[in-house]
Amino acid sequence: MEAPSILRSANFTSGDLSTRARAVAAIAANNAIAVDEGSRFPAEACTALKEQRLLGVMVSRDLGGEGASIADVADVCYQLGQACASTGMIYAMHQIKVACVTRHMRDNPVLANTMRRLSAEQLLLASSTTEGQSGGNVRSSEAPVEHVDGGIQLERKASVISYGAYADGIVTTARRSADAPGSDQVLVAFLKSDYTLTRLQGWNTLGMRGTCSEGYTLKAQGQPGQILPDPYEIIHAQTMVPFAHLLWGSVWTGIAASATARAQAFIRQAMRTSGGQLPPGAPQFTQALKTLRTLRGMVASSLRAYESRMNDPKAVASVDFQSVITLTKVEASELAVSTVMSAMRACGLSGYRADGDFTLGRHLRDVLSSPIMINNDRILANLATSSLMTPIPTSMRD
Ligand SMILES: Cc1cc2nc3c(=O)[nH]c(=O)nc-3n(C[C@H](O)[C@H](O)[C@H](O)COP(=O)(O)OP(=O)(O)OC[C@H]3O[C@@H](n4cnc5c(N)ncnc54)[C@H](O)[C@@H]3O)c2cc1C
Repeated sequence: MEAPSILRSANFTSGDLSTRARAVAAIAANNAIAVDEGSRFPAEACTALKEQRLLGVMVSRDLGGEGASIADVADVCYQLGQACASTGMIYAMHQIKVACVTRHMRDNPVLANTMRRLSAEQLLLASSTTEGQSGGNVRSSEAPVEHVDGGIQLERKASVISYGAYADGIVTTARRSADAPGSDQVLVAFLKSDYTLTRLQGWNTLGMRGTCSEGYTLKAQGQPGQILPDPYEIIHAQTMVPFAHLLWGSVWTGIAASATARAQAFIRQAMRTSGGQLPPGAPQFTQALKTLRTLRGMVASSLRAYESRMNDPKAVASVDFQSVITLTKVEASELAVSTVMSAMRACGLSGYRADGDFTLGRHLRDVLSSPIMINNDRILANLATSSLMTPIPTSMRD
């Protein structure tokens, strides 16, 4: 089944980007089983991302990047998600941090230089938002930035940092200062020479095993210019949440497309060997096609909605748009899980097996991370509160 692009009708800046993504996806696919089995970093695919110069594509041209759009990057995530979900998620998380820095650095020379270096040296950025026992409450930080002798210091219990040990830099949330409340946060960009990581816990999980999302004590020091000038509250609503939900959603859609393609291949083979008779699971293949179609359409429509507003802070901050983008994550994760489940049922025992050409175990384990990567129930509960005063549409035209 051919499902190469998440936004077939979108105006992508470069077919070349797609070709480069395909080259990385081929390498990621060849190593996906070993990455999953070994719970190891997808080093081959990440080296290929650097060789294809895909890490700096979203940096502006004047800083050495290619000025790629979010739709371009979403398509790369989709292609990588089909090949190796961990590689796709690593690429997505890196690009979310690049977007936060490039869109909120204003005229800060230190951050501009970091982006210039990122494009030139193809640096890989990791993300630290999860802290201590507070789970997915991204809008609250414990550890404060401390100002000492003209420099800054931060020590945080970062309970999950994907590929932390392999990254060239970490972009982290932090409390603005020791006397600020937890919700008064900043975002700080540290490069590897600025910090040490002391391992707190490992990453032995059901899926997404190649993200190597271990826990660390992050001890960093740097200069005040490494703090993004916009408060995190603004960055969160304008960039972090939209990019995270759209790029994660693109990776999960890629997993769902790959599982559906496998179900299709299974049904073709079963029919060939049974004189053209459909196997009993065939309706589940149609079901997978149906949810995949809804999923692709929903992510594509949210991408368009964001692209048409992203330079209008008021429109992005509106309750209506924030609900759309928040629900995109919830819906994308649920549709992706249900698509992979249908694909597995279409393949029957061949999908359930952990070996063979039609196994869907890795797809299912990987996609099951999606509803808990910021728990959907946490998101729904928060949205219920903020939507209490929003009128429910009374006309189909609203
Ligand atoms: C594949 C993957 C990659 C990720 N990568 C990153 C990353 O790079 N950087 C990053 O910052 N985060 C990362 N995360 C974490 C993610 O952003 C969320 O923070 C996380 O999914 C929330 O998980 P949770 O179930 O612990 O928290 P929630 O479901 O939000 O909340 C769980 C609640 O339970 C309580 N709790 C949790 N654990 C315990 C415990 N052991 N004992 C007692 N109470 C407890 C806490 O009160 C907490 O509020 C990643 C998650 C996944 C699945």
